[in-house]
Amino acid sequence: MIENAIGMVSFPLGIATSFRINGKDRLIPMVIEEPSVIAAASKAAKIAKKHGGFTMKADESYSIGQIQVVDVNVKSAISKIKKSSKQILKLANSKSHTLSKMGKGAKQVSCKTIKTNSGPMLIVELLIDVGDAMGANVTNTMCEGVAPLIEKLTGGRVILRILSNYSTKRLVRGTATFDKEEIGGQKVVENIILAYQFAANDPYRAVTHNKGVMNGIIAVANATGQDTRAIDAGAHAYASRMGRYSSLTEWKKDKKGNLVGKIELPMAVGIVGGIVNVHPMIKVCTKILGVKSAKELACVIAAVGLAQNFSAIRALASEGIQKGHMKLHARNIVASAGIRSDKIDEVTRRMIKEGNVSVHRAKEILKEL
Ligand code: NAD
Repeated sequence: MIENAIGMVSFPLGIATSFRINGKDRLIPMVIEEPSVIAAASKAAKIAKKHGGFTMKADESYSIGQIQVVDVNVKSAISKIKKSSKQILKLANSKSHTLSKMGKGAKQVSCKTIKTNSGPMLIVELLIDVGDAMGANVTNTMCEGVAPLIEKLTGGRVILRILSNYSTKRLVRGTATFDKEEIGGQKVVENIILAYQFAANDPYRAVTHNKGVMNGIIAVANATGQDTRAIDAGAHAYASRMGRYSSLTEWKKDKKGNLVGKIELPMAVGIVGGIVNVHPMIKVCTKILGVKSAKELACVIAAVGLAQNFSAIRALASEGIQKGHMKLHARNIVASAGIRSDKIDEVTRRMIKEGNVSVHRAKEILKEL
């Protein structure tokens, strides 16, 4: 899969349970090194199930390809591009027989001007329905394929020809209701909403809030062989779309006082292409998940993000995050203290019982044993 490979670093694969997404129960494979994430997702899913689980919807799989044109009279170039858009689309679509046969592929050409220190630039954008692929390669191929025609039409010089990872035409959104009694009553609901408002209005809190969302999203993305950097970059740009970095989720209460969560973000994922059909464990995970389209996968990933966010802010707004987290992290602390594997369980048990999880205490307990 990569160059100069010398080995493998493996990470734990777990299954989150209790998820009902768009009326379908699913087992969710998650690959992540951080303890407590899978437990938290499963717990949130169980609570959400009481009110029907997660209702999610994904846009069609539109990828945006960008072609940068410089040394050009922008105004006349835009009119030439508009007049020749059919020819440009035909050429782009000739680069993918698979997408063309499926009725997908390049659908629209648009232009925008950007001002730079080196003068105005024309950016030609292709909107491409990439079907069930993440679509980076096919987008890049189409952009490179039409670049000579764009140069000929505009008289300008093309430099970059590449997809944008800011996939704003490929959003996924959804909601779930969390029963007020299940989460500890009206006061906890109100505290969660106040916690959310902190994230919505302070970038320092929003980054950590969204990190919690990404705990869920990236773990499922890892398990299903997605380009996690693309998801991350798109998500954080989307979180800044109002001009200030903010929360990817929204929390309110309904008329009955139950907590309602919403999520919306770009989700460029695929069930074909990339390493999805290459890596044997990714194939197994995709089979366990049982998704039949890229849109279905996007819905699952975003639902897990919302679940993760719920559990994190619920813990933060009530007993605090450390109680649950440190209990699950205790084994890692014991292992990092260099304790023999046959003693790890016993030392971990005692540290949790005492509520004192630290490397120092682990070493002391070992001496006592
Ligand atoms: P790909 O090129 O490996 O495969 C996609 C191909 O699968 C399509 O071109 C099509 O021919 C075929 N296909 C078969 N059935 C299909 C269906 N139902 N729907 C759509 N296509 C179908 O993969 P890709 O998705 O174009 O690219 C993803 C890879 O590109 C990832 O590994 C990613 O890391 C990498 N990449 C990312 C970037 C970036 O994000 N900036 C840039 C370059 C490469």
